[in-house]
Amino acid sequence: MARIGFIGVGNMGGPMARNLLKAGHQVKAFDLSGQALSAVTAAGATGAKSAAEAARGVDAVLTMLPAGQHVRAVFTGGDGILAAAAPGTLFIDSSTIDVANARAVAEAGARAGFEVLDAPVSGGTGGAAAGTLTFMCGGSEVAFQRAKPILEAMGKTIVHAGAVGAGQAAKICNNMILGASMLVVAEAFVLAEKLGLDKQKLFDIAAKSSGQCWSITSYCPVPGPVPNSPANRDYQAGFTTAMMLKDLHLAQEAAQAVGAAAPIGALAEQIYALYDGAGFGHKDFSGVINALRGTSR
Ligand code: NAD
Repeated sequence: MARIGFIGVGNMGGPMARNLLKAGHQVKAFDLSGQALSAVTAAGATGAKSAAEAARGVDAVLTMLPAGQHVRAVFTGGDGILAAAAPGTLFIDSSTIDVANARAVAEAGARAGFEVLDAPVSGGTGGAAAGTLTFMCGGSEVAFQRAKPILEAMGKTIVHAGAVGAGQAAKICNNMILGASMLVVAEAFVLAEKLGLDKQKLFDIAAKSSGQCWSITSYCPVPGPVPNSPANRDYQAGFTTAMMLKDLHLAQEAAQAVGAAAPIGALAEQIYALYDGAGFGHKDFSGVINALRGTSR
């Protein structure tokens, strides 16, 4: 069993750290939020007073932080974890961040003699709690093989996507598909309402026809057809609109950086930005259907 430093034990990191503990790993955690930290120390983790302290004397350090600037600061800032860790420590960053920052952090790690794996996840807070996350990993084969037994305590599907940055690339491509597909599914259900077509009938047909996709079959944006989708609990997230907006923004930044055409992704970003700007950033992203109806709630 491994000794693991865990930095960022919020909505995702908290349950992930608890699953590491359940699997028998030792966890030394740090979070700027005392409340988040207490929740994991109550489950058996040791509390550290700084990120650097969490990174000292462990086999691997996992980070689950909001965005690229937080990851970079924790890795390379004053009292950063790269400077604190013992030789041979493996770094796994599971935050969703931009490809450029992921590569910069990995390069800084390599200069200091460390392997850094970008390993963002999909599956949301439900998957984090159930230990069924998908990990998309970017880094060397050696780093991937070392990380795998640790990631298996938190996830069901662990994929080596390619070199450093490939995990983040996979994550933003996947979420661009999700963000755009949810919008067109929501548009279709609003159109069906206006045409007098029963939502359950549209679901029954589209879920078995060429329009079939995850946004219909697992996360239907109207209440009823998929009983556990956020639509049935007034769009309580789930995956917040603010998070979706962040990922679509990362996808657009990446598309512009490499000259890829992504006009549907760009439009999707603008539509979620309007919903977020109207005060619904904390709601599940599938709640965007209410903005399309013109009756946001
Ligand atoms: P969160 O805000 O709940 O957790 C982040 C934690 O990091 C917070 O507890 C915060 O206090 C802590 N933190 C911030 N800066 C820190 C620092 N310098 N040192 C130590 N701790 C610090 O966010 P979350 O929902 O857990 O998301 C974390 C990451 O996972 C994000 O990158 C997000 O995009 C990604 N993600 C989230 C979901 C989801 O459904 N919530 C799904 C997939 C991926």
